[in-house]
Amino acid sequence: MSNTSFHSSFSSLADMRKALDSKQVSATELAQQALDRAEALKHLNIFLHIDPELSLQQAKQADQRIAEGKQHFLTGIPVAHKDVFVTRDWRTTAASKMLENYTSPFDAAVVEHFNNAGTVNIGKLNCDEFAMGSGNENSAFGPCLNPWDTTAVPGGSSGGSTAAVAAGIVLAATGTDTGGSVRQPSALCGVSGIKPTYGTVSRFGMIAYGSSLDQAGPISRSAHDLVELLDVISAFDERDSTSIEACDGIPNRQGRVKQAYLDTQAKLNAQGSLPLKGLRIGVPKEFFGPGLAEDVARSVEAALQEYEKLGAERVEISLPRTELSIPAYYVLAPAEASSNLSRYDGVRYGHRANSYKGLEEMTSRSRAEAFGPEVQRRIMIGTYVLSQGYYDAYYLQAQRIRRLIANDFQAAFTSQCDVIMGPVTPTVAKNIGENRNDPTADWLADIFTLGVSLAGLPAMSIPCGFGGANNNRPIGLQIIGNYFNEGKILAIADRFQQNTDWHTRQPEIK
Ligand code: GLN
Repeated sequence: MSNTSFHSSFSSLADMRKALDSKQVSATELAQQALDRAEALKHLNIFLHIDPELSLQQAKQADQRIAEGKQHFLTGIPVAHKDVFVTRDWRTTAASKMLENYTSPFDAAVVEHFNNAGTVNIGKLNCDEFAMGSGNENSAFGPCLNPWDTTAVPGGSSGGSTAAVAAGIVLAATGTDTGGSVRQPSALCGVSGIKPTYGTVSRFGMIAYGSSLDQAGPISRSAHDLVELLDVISAFDERDSTSIEACDGIPNRQGRVKQAYLDTQAKLNAQGSLPLKGLRIGVPKEFFGPGLAEDVARSVEAALQEYEKLGAERVEISLPRTELSIPAYYVLAPAEASSNLSRYDGVRYGHRANSYKGLEEMTSRSRAEAFGPEVQRRIMIGTYVLSQGYYDAYYLQAQRIRRLIANDFQAAFTSQCDVIMGPVTPTVAKNIGENRNDPTADWLADIFTLGVSLAGLPAMSIPCGFGGANNNRPIGLQIIGNYFNEGKILAIADRFQQNTDWHTRQPEIK
């Protein structure tokens, strides 16, 4: 297979479905092509673990299911999972030395849903260690490279997921978003990704980072493909205590996202040549301050103008606590992380030091040896802000700010706008190795994604341009909806993609 044949022959999941159903191609052939391409692009360090035998076994089962006419829309489609979703057959490492040799006795809920639909897993994807980071450089197994420009990071923490889609290895991948990790790497790799409303996708079997923020989301080329992918994983799960059963009387189950998407599409279609007439797009003025790079500002502005051409109306709004989302998040997420990561004690699972004197030293040595520097930093911060005497000053205060941030979004949605749009990141992807000595520089770059995470809202990133010195680093547009509005923002994103071709561009990989 040539390097380009696979991804140029199938531009969407629907195309692939058609080819599978008409027996033009088999699931086994698709899986083999994806595995070959992953092998040919090994230098990008996208995968942490591949096991061709397992993938081909799943493909064989998919072919059988198709032959019996019992296929789901996703049966036989190659996918890949971020290495924080536990899998029974593939190793799961969370990109950490701590779990280097860990294999889970069960599958994560997200993986279960995909398996039930009959997808074929191509492997486990690189990411930041325990999903902490914004560039995929915190992986214990080396950085993943951006397929558009191999001197750039792919973004993080789901960098392997967005790189796998951008590089045309798979058309669909899973990611997780605690403070932006689906949206930010999607923007920097020029692909589409959605983080749903907190609680709509089960966290069962998703290695915990900040449990009150963590949410899984799919990554793909287009919003249209995301509909099927999100739909299959959005469902109440009693094994996750924060899973949502229903919202406004609408049950959280498979079919919900797709139905809302189709309903919105039907409404837009009925509006003829100005499909988005009546749609009020809130544009937060705090997202367009001096920190926003000129190339990003230009592309986002062009995207907003495209929306106006489709009939939408732009309304300036204010999210006055945008800047506070950084300190609030970087208190709360580390606090939760320090608690979640206490389970890695060298006793139950994960790395255990070779030599130690006594139980305490075993635990401290095991943790010191196996956690990377960013993870250790977060544990230290988290433990500090939760300690007696500081709890009120930091943790409680951050919780109060979190509430105010959520209120600001609600104020905008209640009286001013239907959706909110703006940039995902202040700049295009940075160079690999940039900011190495300044960890908090990366934290500041999360400014446009953190508020949404703190509020638990659904949001996505879609490609809308290129920037950087060689004009080859992708730029994303962020679309934020109110709670449970995934179907609606997907339809609105899809309208943009019907009228533009940013999402169809593919990198020439060096
Ligand atoms: N960059 C943020 C962090 O490091 C977000 C990561 C994420 O969403 N998993 O916490």
